[in-house]
Amino acid sequence: MALIPIPAPGAAAAPTLRKIAIEEHFQDPAFTTTDYAAVAKLGGVEVGFMEATMRRARDFNSSRIEEMDEAGIDISVLSLTAGGIEMMRDHGTAVSGARRINDFLAERVREGGGRFQGFASVALQDTDAAITELERAVNDLGMVGVMVNGYIEIGDDPQPHYLDDARFDAFWEALAELNVPLYLHPKPSVPAVRDAWFRGREELAGATWGFAPETATHTLRLVYGGVFDRHPAAQLILGHMGETLPFFQWRIQRAFEYNPYNARPTKRLQDYLSDNIHVTTSGHFNSQALITSLLTMGSDRILFASDYPYDIATDAARWIESAPISESDRRKIAYGNAEELLGLGDKKDA
Ligand code: MN
Repeated sequence: MALIPIPAPGAAAAPTLRKIAIEEHFQDPAFTTTDYAAVAKLGGVEVGFMEATMRRARDFNSSRIEEMDEAGIDISVLSLTAGGIEMMRDHGTAVSGARRINDFLAERVREGGGRFQGFASVALQDTDAAITELERAVNDLGMVGVMVNGYIEIGDDPQPHYLDDARFDAFWEALAELNVPLYLHPKPSVPAVRDAWFRGREELAGATWGFAPETATHTLRLVYGGVFDRHPAAQLILGHMGETLPFFQWRIQRAFEYNPYNARPTKRLQDYLSDNIHVTTSGHFNSQALITSLLTMGSDRILFASDYPYDIATDAARWIESAPISESDRRKIAYGNAEELLGLGDKKDA
C-alpha cells in the first residue's frame, strides 16, 4: 500500500546561536620543544595528537578563526595552556614569564579584531608579584580574569602549593576587589600521585581521568579550607563540567559531616557551588553531564567553552545548539553568562 504523506511543515530558520567560548588555549611562543613524546606522555595522549594540538595552539589567524567561524563562536577568551607559569619553579622566570605572556596575549587580542579576549597569567610563586601583575593585566591590558593551571610549584619545594594556603589570601582579596574570576584549570598531579595511580595504566592519566580528581581535590581544598568564607565575593570557574563535582557533591557533603577534625566552613558544598563556582562545557559535550550541572547549580553558572586546541570547537557548538534544554538556558550558557561574568557585553563594541 502506498504511503499517503502529509505536506512538510514550513520551517522557520533557527537564529544562529551567538557563542562566547572561554577555555581556549594558546602556547607560549618561547616554548619551542620538539620533544612531543615527553609532553604527550604527561598528558596520556598520542604523539601525533600532541603535535597537532601544539600547532593549533600556536595559530591565531587561520585555523583557529576558521574553526570559530564554523562553530559560530564570536569571541574566544584565550589563555596560556598548562603547565603555564605555575610550573616555572624559578622565581625570576615565573615573574617575568607572566608579564611576557600577558603582553603577548594583549597583542593578540588587539590584533584580533574583536574576536579574542584574554585570561591573564600570574606568578603565584610570589603573591605580591602576582597581585601587581593581575592589576596591570586587568586595569592596563583589559584581561577579563585569570587562569591558574593547578597547584603552584615553588623553587626546590617538592610539595604542591594549593590555593587554600594562607599565603594566597591577599591574591584572593585582589581578585574580589577587581571583580574578576579565577579559572582553575587542570594539570597533572605530582609525580608521587601519578606513579601510585597510573603506573602500568598510563592511558588513564591526563584528560581521560587524572586531571579531574586532581582539580576536584584542589577545589574541595578551597571550599573546605574556607577560602570562600574569607572571600565571599570570589568567583571560581571550573572546566570540564565541574571536574565531576556537580555529580558527586551530595555524597561529599554527606561524608564531610562526619569529619573528626573540627573542620567546618560556614556553608555546605552545594551552597558554595551556587554562590562562588561556575562550570564550563570545555571538552565535555555531553547532555547527561550538562543536565546534572543544571540541576546542581542552575543555568546562570554554566558557560560555553570548547577547550581548543585539545578539542573540536564545531563539536562543542553543534552539541550546545541541540542539547535538550530551554532556549533561554541555551542562550545564557552559550554567551549570556560570559557577558555577565566577564563583562563582555560592554566590550563587544569596544
Ligand atoms: Mn583546557
